[in-house]
Amino acid sequence: MTANHDLSTRRTQAVPRGVGSATAVYAARAENAELWDEEGRRYVDFAGGIAVLNVGHRHPRVLAAVRAQLELYTHTAFQVMPYEPYIRLAERLNALAPFTSEAKTILFTTGAEATENAVKIARAATGRPGIIAFAGGFHGRTLLASAMTGKVSPYKKGLGPFPGEIYHLPFPSETTGVTLADTLKSLDFLFAADIEPERIAAIIIEPIQGEGGFHVPPPALFEALAALRERYGILLIADEVQTGFARTGRMFGIEHCGIEPDLVTVAKSLAGGFPLSGVIGRAEVMDAVEPGGLGGTYGGSPVACAAALAVLDIIEDEQLSARADVIGARIRSRIAGWTGRNAMVPTAGLRGQGAMIAFDILDADGGPDGAEAKRVCARALEYGLVLLGCGQHGQAIRILVPLTASDALIDEGMTALEQALVPASVTLPIEAVEDVAA
Ligand code: PMP
Repeated sequence: MTANHDLSTRRTQAVPRGVGSATAVYAARAENAELWDEEGRRYVDFAGGIAVLNVGHRHPRVLAAVRAQLELYTHTAFQVMPYEPYIRLAERLNALAPFTSEAKTILFTTGAEATENAVKIARAATGRPGIIAFAGGFHGRTLLASAMTGKVSPYKKGLGPFPGEIYHLPFPSETTGVTLADTLKSLDFLFAADIEPERIAAIIIEPIQGEGGFHVPPPALFEALAALRERYGILLIADEVQTGFARTGRMFGIEHCGIEPDLVTVAKSLAGGFPLSGVIGRAEVMDAVEPGGLGGTYGGSPVACAAALAVLDIIEDEQLSARADVIGARIRSRIAGWTGRNAMVPTAGLRGQGAMIAFDILDADGGPDGAEAKRVCARALEYGLVLLGCGQHGQAIRILVPLTASDALIDEGMTALEQALVPASVTLPIEAVEDVAA
């Protein structure tokens, strides 16, 4: 028996199946955009811990900042004895976030906590209960976040009831086949059948849908959202948990959309592998909740804050937003070279922004082929590449390579991906490839 196989056996015994894993190999160490498993096999990392590692694994500056913080204190609880790194990080995020007026930031631990707290803040600020989210959107796995997540299986099936007053609209984009007119018609139905616009606190949207399939909405959607805010006072929450921190070629994905949000949720790549999330928002909105109404024991951990401050320095000094565009162009030109290659499984729908890129795997009839996408990910692992799927049917292959990866490493990963797109008869641990998503 191999070490990976041993660990799989122990895992099956000890851990419930509700938490899936994209690979059946177990991590031993990692460096920038490379991973090694317990058996010493090396992998190029195109998953980045699900969009967490824009600055790569164990960036030396992140490690140095964390080590320095470990020597001082690791936890006091901000609600007991607050500390400077939290405040410094809030100041940095307030200055970076796309607000023209004064901004404030509160820190939490996970993305789901950020999206849930954004809802609490929006409700307190407006005195309204309703929240509109989008089908295919992903906002986390806690109960309110699951309610906002727009995909039943596997996130909601059998897990309800969910908190009320959450409504969904179809998400418009070329790749979902939903037009903006479809979305606006659904909104009219919603306002006619379920709730009046004056009772909606906020609309929550990912500037590019992540788990849903890397769908890019048309810019006119954001004009429509701005009009709704103007007319009815409905706030806009940009969920930047996956799109944030230079991934799309800008610090925040919403910067591509020509609209200023009221609240922004952040997590994942904020702290380079340490658990940290936050809500950044217009100061008067953020101050709507009474003292004590927000927080959490670990929210804004000083160790994670130290990591995040280093991450923000790295993004700036290494110009990772510009690098995301360069990486994106490199990956796209490689994918463009695949057209007409008979040996490969059919692909289509190349999309994304900056270095947030996905494409679909199709079946012989041109439909989405989630089963084959799983096989592509399994073959990629065999060829030394950690790769994730996403999308409504699990049909999309998404690329979230660290922005600190070298051209040579990206090319190596793309070669493995190319090989993985060719159906092979090798025995693959396909049963181990599960829907992890998000
Ligand atoms: N929002 C978005 C857009 C996400 O992609 C995710 C996680 N993939 C979340 C929220 C939830 O984050 P977490 O898993 O840290 O709770």
